Amino acid sequence: MLVRNIRGFESRRVPNNIESWLEYYNRNIHSSNRVTCSKCNGPAEVGAHVIKMVGVKEWYLVPLCKKCFEEEANFEVEEKHLVKVYLM
Ligand SMILES: [Zn+2]
Repeated sequence: MLVRNIRGFESRRVPNNIESWLEYYNRNIHSSNRVTCSKCNGPAEVGAHVIKMVGVKEWYLVPLCKKCFEEEANFEVEEKHLVKVYLM
């Protein structure tokens, strides 16, 4: 699924006193696999807010490394790696 990394949301407050968006992602992905960067498979460092580029413009979290997080560009992510988030 084509998504775009939208920067600036990483400072949003994480619900339920969870310490970071990456931690929020880890708790919601229900995977026993180690979480890695969705673009380069390096170590995940940031829970990035992305928006779906096709169809309904829904928001999701994906794990990214800091280097990939700096690149504000469209990229492909497998649906199973997305965690839905709601923006108010
Ligand atoms: Zn990366």
